[in-house]
Amino acid sequence: MSQVTILASVEAFLRRPHGLFIDGQATPVTNTDELPVTNPANGRVIARVGVANKADIDAAVASSRKGFKAWGQATPAHRGAVLLKLADLLEANSEELAQLETLQSGKLINISRAFEVGQAAHFLRYYAGWASKITGQTITPSIPSFNGERYTAFTLREPVGVVVGIVPWNFSTMIAIWKLASALVTGCSVIIKPSEFTPLTILRISELAIEAGLPPGALNVVCGDGAVGKALIEHPDTDKVSFTGSVPTGLAVGSTAMQAKLTRATLELGGKNAAGFLRDVPVEKAVAGIIEAGFLHSGQICAAAERFYVHRSHSGQICAAAERFYVHRSQIDHLLESLVTRLKALKIGSPMDEASEFGPVTNAQHQQKLSGYFAQARAENNTILHGGRLLDQPGCYVEPTVILANSATDTLMTQETFGPVATFLAYDDEDELVSLMNDSPYGLSASLWTNDLSKALRMIPEIQAGTLWVNMHTLLDPAVPFGGIKASGIGREFGSAFIEDFTELKSVMIRY
Ligand code: NDP
Repeated sequence: MSQVTILASVEAFLRRPHGLFIDGQATPVTNTDELPVTNPANGRVIARVGVANKADIDAAVASSRKGFKAWGQATPAHRGAVLLKLADLLEANSEELAQLETLQSGKLINISRAFEVGQAAHFLRYYAGWASKITGQTITPSIPSFNGERYTAFTLREPVGVVVGIVPWNFSTMIAIWKLASALVTGCSVIIKPSEFTPLTILRISELAIEAGLPPGALNVVCGDGAVGKALIEHPDTDKVSFTGSVPTGLAVGSTAMQAKLTRATLELGGKNAAGFLRDVPVEKAVAGIIEAGFLHSGQICAAAERFYVHRSHSGQICAAAERFYVHRSQIDHLLESLVTRLKALKIGSPMDEASEFGPVTNAQHQQKLSGYFAQARAENNTILHGGRLLDQPGCYVEPTVILANSATDTLMTQETFGPVATFLAYDDEDELVSLMNDSPYGLSASLWTNDLSKALRMIPEIQAGTLWVNMHTLLDPAVPFGGIKASGIGREFGSAFIEDFTELKSVMIRY
């Protein structure tokens, strides 16, 4: 039996009243408004979470201001040690956190274990290592000296202050950890506003953060809907918003931040990511690549590919020695046939079943949105080669879907579905491929698939994306900066990029 048994600690956590996490402890909200948290695998309400009102938001911000004072003055080595300890605690409580995440989001339990908890711990340790390496510069000014006076200058990297981290529902644990780890390591305090659909894991992680030695107030959690996020950004005593979510909400967040008080804003948004397959890629490799790029976590990954371009007349036969053998067969037909065969064999089922390969989408609204996209594809006479329906069973299940578009302007080639929907178009030559891949107002990620590295290296500068993968898609590493160009966002996370995000540069000049 591969169905996971729910831990007693998970059952007990779900039964608790949930609201805020302020000043180092779980705190009830001061009004009676609540939002249900629903398990998308069966539609059952698993918990209720209080919605913060103005008094709660004021209390969280005041606590964060105090927390910033204490935490900002901690030594870098201490900050690193606390994050390392939190990584250990995440791993020690891995199964509990993974189960909570799967119950609230419908993510396959193996993905919750590996990514939401395993990768989150990995990111925490990466950021912990930066604690003692955040430095300024020394500069020798060129100001002329008239009476023998001299000048020296240096820069300081100072934490920006109280950070509001606004998190979407798709990777609610990992994205919250990216934000809190990178902000905390610079000395900022953080208020996390989780998505209303997935607030539970971060409430549990805040308790672990206190156990790890984080002072009360350095991390607060405020739950509620978008209005709560907006109120946090507008609050006179918050200094920065780090937002991950959709493009329309990102535009609203950016404009709220600018109008509030020129609050610093980093916007990690969605897109319509492209994957281009050159004619030399064997079909089996292309199919595995499409599944990795478009169907992991039911496509609910901001970096997932949704537009797929395949050469119109390519065999995809494997090379022998230095020669390639092409037969005259339309690659797109052969490739799509193989993809559909592979998808038909996927085991769709409960995300708490370790044998399931494909689970539900995260909420009923999203399921309905996807249903709307299927209707639109039919209305535009796209060819639905597989899927294109909601599954007739309890829970938010959607079939993995493969669509052949008619043109680059079809809705499914231009609008983000954020679901398990791969839409294909054939191209004739590589110049056309590049222009099709770039034909989007967005530019979060893209991938090129080929065995011809020389060709890939020539195409890399041409493709408009914040991250371009070659022969891979979607996998993120904490050392490699991540963020969008064009309408996919402003700013970068990971690598050293976060230091600029969460610090202000102070210049000091001295005459002596
Ligand atoms: P949304 O943009 O709907 O929401 C994101 C967060 O913003 C939620 O916590 C939401 O709260 C909150 N919010 C909503 N309105 C406001 C507002 N006016 N002011 C402040 N906060 C607000 O995104 P989803 O949660 O639906 O996530 C899916 C989207 O996220 C996709 O478009 C995807 O591409 C993108 N994404 C981008 C990533 C990246 O790194 N670039 C990574 C992951 C996802 P509530 O839930 O209560 O409405």
